[in-house]
Amino acid sequence: MRIAIAGGGLLGRLSAWRLVLAGAEVTLFEAGSLARPAGACWTAAGMISPLTELIHSPYEVYRMGLESLQLWPRWIDVLERASGQPLHFRRNGSMVVAHQCDAAQLDQFQRDLQRTLGSAATKEMTPLDAAGVSALEPDLQHFSRGVYLRNEADLDNRRLLGVLLDELRRLGVGLVDETAVDCEPHAVVLHKGGERRTFDLVIDCRGMGAKAQARNLRGVRGEVMVVETSEVSFQRPVRLMHPRYKLYAVPKPDGTTVIGATEIESEDLSPISLRSTMELSSALYALHPAFAESRIVETSVNLRPATPDNLPFVRIVEGLVQANGLYRHGYLCGPALVRRVAEAAGLVTEVTTE
Ligand SMILES: Cc1cc2nc3c(=O)[nH]c(=O)nc-3n(C[C@H](O)[C@H](O)[C@H](O)COP(=O)(O)OP(=O)(O)OC[C@H]3O[C@@H](n4cnc5c(N)ncnc54)[C@H](O)[C@@H]3O)c2cc1C
Repeated sequence: MRIAIAGGGLLGRLSAWRLVLAGAEVTLFEAGSLARPAGACWTAAGMISPLTELIHSPYEVYRMGLESLQLWPRWIDVLERASGQPLHFRRNGSMVVAHQCDAAQLDQFQRDLQRTLGSAATKEMTPLDAAGVSALEPDLQHFSRGVYLRNEADLDNRRLLGVLLDELRRLGVGLVDETAVDCEPHAVVLHKGGERRTFDLVIDCRGMGAKAQARNLRGVRGEVMVVETSEVSFQRPVRLMHPRYKLYAVPKPDGTTVIGATEIESEDLSPISLRSTMELSSALYALHPAFAESRIVETSVNLRPATPDNLPFVRIVEGLVQANGLYRHGYLCGPALVRRVAEAAGLVTEVTTE
């Protein structure tokens, strides 16, 4: 089966990888650079957080997150063996902390999880006192309370995107970058020159690039800062409950920490605002004062592709599959969605000859 995939972000390259392993002949079209994709996948923090997302997402996101958490270790293992590069998939859990004055928010967070998960919540989260917090995160000495969420993970998402690209090349996927396309049943149409190339199936993974075709898709602006300091190091993603600004700090293998993220109902892709920089910095300082001397080595802005109910979708018409709406859950739900894409293509991806 000859398949064209439009969009070389997270969903496009993961789908291309699984489908070529399942025996398809795949061509991947990317509007920008495949080496450094312009999509949300590059800006993302790479957290796989079914529990923290459950508080403000539909239950289906949690379910898809658990499904993906089963798939990621197997897929990462295959990619690491093929590439010889570690992808730093950490099943180290995550931690939520709050200062004493914001303890009520932490209580509410725990109640919300208990209400949604019932008795299962008890084995998913461990309330921590000051000693428990600093035992898990030695640099967090000044928090009297926290919650440890053991079933959360994170990965080095930029490394993953690079390794996937190398694998696609090695497996003979046709890689066409700097080439924006429109998607039709059985064909892609190149923006430049209007050439129409036909395939047995087209899979549209263009994220926000599909807005003209995907009804109701909206972009949600997210801004992050990447900071570097030798003063603070975390073992896992840490979230701060703050009355005004929600904050996460995700430590990366290169010693940097991704700080995020704003969530603004806007499709403005201009650089990070001064206000967002101040709010993220202020919350970061509240997480640990030593961050004051950290260096901001990067800021990044992108749009999360979202649907009205914030659920991802796979739509099928003869000769065309549209997959989109991963919103803030690309790494959380990506593998589960790729499975549905493969089913829609009529291909089974859990092959044994990897
Ligand atoms: C600040 C921020 C933080 C995030 N953190 C996390 C996180 O910690 N965990 C998590 O699970 N998710 C996170 N996300 C969400 C995640 O990044 C997205 O859900 C995911 O990237 C969506 O994947 P995608 O492949 O559908 O879209 P994208 O990653 O946006 O990729 C779409 C690709 O399609 C290409 N394209 C567009 N138009 C065309 C065209 N006409 N022809 C060809 N190619 C085209 C684009 O150039 C792009 O490369 C975050 C997002 C943001 C913005």
